[in-house]
Amino acid sequence: ALESNESMVMPGATIGMVGGGQLGRMFAIAAMQMGYDVVVFCGSPDEPAGQVATRTVVGDLLDHAVVSQFAQQCQVITLEFENIPAETIRWCSEFAPTYPSHHVLATAQDRLVEKTTFRDAGLAVTPYAAVDSAAGVGEFAEQHGWPVIVKTARSGYDGKGQYRLDGQADAAAVPWESADAWIAEKWISFDREASVVVARSAAGEVRCFPPFENDHRNHILDVSFCPSTLSPAQQQLANSIATRAADVLQLVGVLCVEFFVVDAETILINEVAPRPHNSGHLTIEACHTSQFEQHVRAVCGLPLGSTELRVGGAAMANLLGDLWSVDGQHPSWDQALAVPSVSLHLYGKTDAKVGRKMGHLTATAGSASEAVQAVNQARESLI
Ligand code: ADP
Ligand code: MG
Repeated sequence: ALESNESMVMPGATIGMVGGGQLGRMFAIAAMQMGYDVVVFCGSPDEPAGQVATRTVVGDLLDHAVVSQFAQQCQVITLEFENIPAETIRWCSEFAPTYPSHHVLATAQDRLVEKTTFRDAGLAVTPYAAVDSAAGVGEFAEQHGWPVIVKTARSGYDGKGQYRLDGQADAAAVPWESADAWIAEKWISFDREASVVVARSAAGEVRCFPPFENDHRNHILDVSFCPSTLSPAQQQLANSIATRAADVLQLVGVLCVEFFVVDAETILINEVAPRPHNSGHLTIEACHTSQFEQHVRAVCGLPLGSTELRVGGAAMANLLGDLWSVDGQHPSWDQALAVPSVSLHLYGKTDAKVGRKMGHLTATAGSASEAVQAVNQARESLI
C-alpha cells in the first residue's frame, strides 16, 4: 500500500478555489464528487463556480481581510486563472499551501518572463522581443520578417490585446499607450496547434494527457480533439517538452502547454497556463481521469490518475455567446443532444455576449475524426 503522507489533503477536507468562472466550476464539481468541500472566492455567488460550491466568500481580491477570512477555512488553495494578483496568492499561502505558487504566477502572468524562462531552460519558443513602439516593431521585423504579432505582455486571454501586423504601416494601429509592456512575436505559419496538459504533484510525480489538437477561430479556441494527428515521435516530443516545462517551473497542479507544430521535428512552445485548460475539457468524458480531477489529486498530494483515453476518439466544441440569438431565444439544445454520444456543458452564465465562453459540447466516438464530425453536427444543429 502507498504510505499515507502528512502532506496529503484527504477527502473531507476543504479546498479553496480563487476565481468563480467555468474552470473553477468544473474543478469544484470534480473535487466535490471526491468528497471535498470547496470554498470559492468570487465577486458574486452567482458566478459559475459560486453556483456549485459548498460555500462562497465574496469580495475583492485585494481586500486583505476578506482574503484572510477565505484562506483560513482551507487546507489547500488553488486558482482557476493565472491573472490573479500575486499579492492575493501570497496572503493565501500564509494560511495554507497554495498552488500554483506566486513564483509560477509571476512567470505565467507575463509573456516576456515566460518565454525567457523557457528559452533559458533550452526549450524552443516563438522568436520574440520586448517592444514599445512602431519603431521597435520595425527593428524586430528587419530581423524576423513580416507578419509580426504584437501582444500585451500581461493580462491577455482569448486573443485579447493582440495585433497582427502585415507591414510597418500597421504598427501605427497598436494602442501603445494602453499597456505598460508589449511583446513582438514572429508570426509562425504553423502546420497545426496542439497542447499538452501535464500534472505534477507535490511529491514530484508527473503525468501527461495525450496531446490535444486545437483549431482556433479569431484567436479563440474553437474545436479540440484527441488523439491528435501528431506522429508518435511528435507526441513524445510534445509530452517531453511539457514535462520539462512543469519541472522548470517546479509546478504543483496542472499546466497546459500550447504548441505550434511547425514540421516533423519542430515544435515551439506558444504559451503556458498553470491550470486546467479549455483544450482539456474533453478529458471529462474521454479519459479515465479528467484534467479537473487530476488537478485535485495533484494539489492534494494524492497519486495521479490514469490519463489514458477510454474511447477511440473525442472532440470538444466551444459554445460562444454568439450562438444565442438577439431575440433571447435559447439554442436548440434538444437538437444537439439528439446526436449520439454528445454531452452538453453549460457554465451557468446568464449574459450571452459575443465571444464569451458560455459552455461546450463534447462528443466521443470510435475515432477523433468521427468525434469532430459529431460535435460539429451537434453545434450546427443549435441554430
Ligand atoms: P491567448 O492568451 O489569448 O490564448 P495566444 O498567444 O495563445 O494568446 O494566442 C491565441 C492564438 O492566436 C494562438 O493559439 C494562435 O492561433 C494565434 N497566434 C498567437 N501568436 C501567434 C504567432 N506568433 N504566430 C501565429 N499565430 C499566433
Ligand atoms: Mg493561448
